Amino acid sequence: MKSPISDYLTEIITDARSATGGEVADYIPVLSEVDRELLGAALCTASGDLYSVGDDEHAFSIQSISKPFAYAVALEERGPEVVDARVGMEPSGEAFNDISLDEETGRPDNPMINVGAIAVTQLIGGRSASVDSRVGLLLDRFSALAGRQLSIDERVAESELAHSDYSMAMAYMLRDTGVVTDTAEHAVTSYIRQCAVLVTVRDLAVMAATLANGGIQPITGQRVFSQAVCRQVQAVMASAGMYNAAGRWMTTVGIPAKSGVAGGLLGTLPGRLGLATFSPPLDPQGNSVRGVKIFQRLSEDMGMHLMGAE
Ligand code: GLU
Repeated sequence: MKSPISDYLTEIITDARSATGGEVADYIPVLSEVDRELLGAALCTASGDLYSVGDDEHAFSIQSISKPFAYAVALEERGPEVVDARVGMEPSGEAFNDISLDEETGRPDNPMINVGAIAVTQLIGGRSASVDSRVGLLLDRFSALAGRQLSIDERVAESELAHSDYSMAMAYMLRDTGVVTDTAEHAVTSYIRQCAVLVTVRDLAVMAATLANGGIQPITGQRVFSQAVCRQVQAVMASAGMYNAAGRWMTTVGIPAKSGVAGGLLGTLPGRLGLATFSPPLDPQGNSVRGVKIFQRLSEDMGMHLMGAE
């Protein structure tokens, strides 16, 4: 949709190009092949108006941005008691791939770090579900959120699977404490395939807007999640969504958000809108350098900080 809002977004992404730092993730080899200059942004209102600029049709793997949505699917399917018994909701203060469990409870600290996300994915479809049925259920829900059929980037999935010893170690640890009952290989494969779902910034903005809108996809009108689930997911995103920069993010930008190593970044302004950016170079915490800059600017200009104006 062409409008003053798209002109404004274009100005913001043009300004963000001045941020030239950051490194493209290379621990998943295929991700390092990306063009680091790709840049896109999208905004979707809770009433379903979608605006996008830049490389808004470029599809990239969702990576960790899948985590809040998988958490929502698990909460919806299994209920909060079952989910809370398996994964906590406290910020860990550690890196996204920290390999530790809460000493007292034996649970992962939260669903936004890898070890928590592996546990959450295993809750979907029941204990005896196959990898295909688990991933199929996730893909169906992600597609309902985006309002179109999404697919998996098989090259990204294979590339990560070929370098998954660290995630396998997490899955073995989760088996040891009984949080995971399937084989470690199945648990990691399901999680990695979930991370390899292809999205554009337009998809992510609509997915974010669905959370912001209490679970009703604002363009199709379909109820995908309950209001209670959306509240819990956004609350956990607010405290743990931005890796170990989550505290600074909440201070400077002030809205629930989640980033992924492919360069995507998604934020929700509850009740009002969903936002998304894509730019591959990452800062040392793993967040998109240009994405963070765009969100900071939007937050300032639009007074989005949930704790009020400065
Ligand atoms: N699939 C990636 C991993 O597990 C996701 C990481 C991320 O986006 O933070 O390492």
